[in-house]
Amino acid sequence: MAILVFVEIADGIVKKSSLEAVSYGAELASNTSGPVTALVLGSVSEDKLEAVGKSGAEKILLVEDERLNQPLVSAYATAIAQAFEKSDSKTLILAKSALSDIVAAKVAVKTGAGIVTNVSSLPDLSNGFHVQRSIYTGKAFENVSVKSEKKVLGIRKNVVQIKEDGSSSVIEKLAVDFSDKDFTTNIEKTEKAEGDILLTEAEIVVSGGRGLKGPENWGMIEELAKELGAATGCSKPVSDMEWRPHHEHVGQTGVKVSPNLYIAIGISGAIQHLAGVNSSKVLVAINKDPDAPFFKAADYGIVGDAFEVVPKLTEAVKALKN
Ligand SMILES: Cc1cc2nc3c(=O)[nH]c(=O)nc-3n(C[C@H](O)[C@H](O)[C@H](O)COP(=O)(O)OP(=O)(O)OC[C@H]3O[C@@H](n4cnc5c(N)ncnc54)[C@H](O)[C@@H]3O)c2cc1C
Repeated sequence: MAILVFVEIADGIVKKSSLEAVSYGAELASNTSGPVTALVLGSVSEDKLEAVGKSGAEKILLVEDERLNQPLVSAYATAIAQAFEKSDSKTLILAKSALSDIVAAKVAVKTGAGIVTNVSSLPDLSNGFHVQRSIYTGKAFENVSVKSEKKVLGIRKNVVQIKEDGSSSVIEKLAVDFSDKDFTTNIEKTEKAEGDILLTEAEIVVSGGRGLKGPENWGMIEELAKELGAATGCSKPVSDMEWRPHHEHVGQTGVKVSPNLYIAIGISGAIQHLAGVNSSKVLVAINKDPDAPFFKAADYGIVGDAFEVVPKLTEAVKALKN
C-alpha cells in the first residue's frame, strides 16, 4: 500500500511535525510493506530535504513552482490531490497544522477519500482500517473505521518519534496541472511573531501566568527559556493585560502547543489553559499553592515561590550544560 506524506515547509525549512508525519508513514509502511513518498511544494534547497529521507521517505516528489512558496489553500489542494492520484498512493498523511487541516479536507473531497483528522495512533489493520483520533482538546478519543480505498489522515503532534535511521531519498520533479482558480488569492504581507523559536514548533515551552505579578518579572522566564532553548508562552490574563504579546497566549482560545516539555510557572491550571497544553509529553508546574489545579494535570510539580525556584532552576540548567 503506497503512502504519500505531505511535507510542509516554513521559512525554507521542513517543519518538525512533517518529519513526524513521514515517520508515521514509515511505521505504517512497515506493517503494509508499501513505499513512502514525501511531497514537497515550492522552492526549497535539496540539502534541507535530507531529514525527510532519514525520517523514512524513500522518494521525494518536488513541485518546484515559486507560486507555492505562499501557502495557498486551493493550489496546495490541487497539487496534493494530483500527486495522490499520480503516485497511486492509497493513504495520504499530513501533519496537523492550520494550513493542512483545510487542505486535507479539500483533497479528500477532490479524491473521494475518507478523512480522519487529529489522528493520535497508528491504524489497527487487523480487521479493516481503524484509527483513533483525539477529541475535546485531548480529553477523549474516538475510534474511527475508514472504509474507502483512499484515506487521508491528519496526524496530531507527538504520536510517533521522528526516525533518524532512514536513508537518503531520491528526488523526482512533479509537474502539476494548475488552473487560474488555484491562484485566486494572494498573500500580500506576512507579519511574524518575534523570537527565534516558533511556539507551535517548540520542543520546550516555558510559560508564565498571573503569579508572576507583572511584566517586569519576565526576565527570569526568558532566561530559563534561553538556557533550555525554549519558546516562551503565557496564560490568557497575562496577554490580556499586555504583560506579554498576544501570540504567546496558550490555551483553548490561544495557541495550542505540543512540546516535549511544558513548564508552567505561576499558572493556576484552569481548564481553558490546560486545553492548549495537554498534548505536551511532559508537564511541569511551579506554583506556590499546593492545591493549584495544575498539579493534578502535571507529571512533575514544584510547590514553591517562582521568584525563588526559577532562578535556582536556571542556575541548575546552566551548571548541567557546563
Ligand atoms: C471562554 C474562556 C476562555 C479562556 N481561554 C483561556 C486560554 O486560552 N488560556 C488561558 O490561559 N486562560 C483562558 N481563560 C482564562 C482561565 O479561565 C483562567 O482565568 C486563566 O487561565 C488564569 O490565568 P493564570 O493561571 O495566569 O492566573 P490565576 O488564575 O490568577 O493564577 C495564578 C497562579 O499563580 C500562583 N502564584 C501566585 N504567586 C506565585 C508565586 N510567587 N510563585 C508561584 N506561583 C504563584 C497562584 O497560586 C495561582 O495558582 C479562559 C476563560 C474563559 C471564560
